Amino acid sequence: MKYKQELEEKEQARILVLEEKTLTRIARENASTRLSSLQQELEMEHKLVMDRKARLMQQLSDLKISSAHLLDYGISKGESSQNFIEKIPDHRRCTICFQNEVSILFIPCAHQVVCFDCSGSMGDSCPSCQVQIAKKYVVYN
Ligand SMILES: [Zn+2]
Ligand SMILES: [Zn+2]
Repeated sequence: MKYKQELEEKEQARILVLEEKTLTRIARENASTRLSSLQQELEMEHKLVMDRKARLMQQLSDLKISSAHLLDYGISKGESSQNFIEKIPDHRRCTICFQNEVSILFIPCAHQVVCFDCSGSMGDSCPSCQVQIAKKYVVYN
């Protein structure tokens, strides 16, 4: 009787150990499944981040290009408006092209309102007072 009981106890102990081992194995499998799914998630996340980074880098370089363009535009604009301010005062600017300094004197009205370039392409009357121009003189300032 006692021997049989011992045997049963041993058998139960063996079953317990087996169960524990099985549980451990399941837990380990679960853990490794969880781990690999986490790794997959991580990889996905990483890929998304990399994609996002690539997109942002692209946007950044686009912005850099357009801001460089803006900067160029600003500089050239600033320079030309500086030219207007410093080199050609309003009353000395050609009334046709609004860019060059006036350099032509009309006879008989004595107006100086156009530059040399525009004097060639304009009509026969002064753009300021509409008087018929008899002569054009180049003037130097
Ligand atoms: Zn002009
Ligand atoms: Zn005139």
